[in-house]
Amino acid sequence: MATRNPNNLPTCASVTHLPPLLAVAARYLAPVQEDDFPEERGLRCALGAHGEGEHQALVRELDGSDNSSAWVAWRGDWGRPGELVIRTRCRARGDRGGCGLYQRHPGDHAFGPVRTAVTPK
Ligand SMILES: [Zn+2]
Ligand SMILES: [Zn+2]
Repeated sequence: MATRNPNNLPTCASVTHLPPLLAVAARYLAPVQEDDFPEERGLRCALGAHGEGEHQALVRELDGSDNSSAWVAWRGDWGRPGELVIRTRCRARGDRGGCGLYQRHPGDHAFGPVRTAVTPK
């Protein structure tokens, strides 16, 4: 069963965990808005289905700017992200609003909110 994003395009199914150190760093970058921002949580790649290259997940939007957000990259399933990368938002716009990915992302645009948190089962 393929996962699909709101644009009904196949999405990448790779997942990872946000290491505690990076969760702390993300919290430092933007004061906590969500009381329950977890120390460690599952993240799903936000890109469209891709065969090669790094997976990318949005960690959080940053305060004080509508254009910046913190992302992590990893390789392979359950690869460990090594660092937070601050990225500027993709400027493409579609019927469902702006693309939720970052500038010069590979593959198709993903219009609408990017959801990369994996809900614990
Ligand atoms: Zn991916
Ligand atoms: Zn885009």
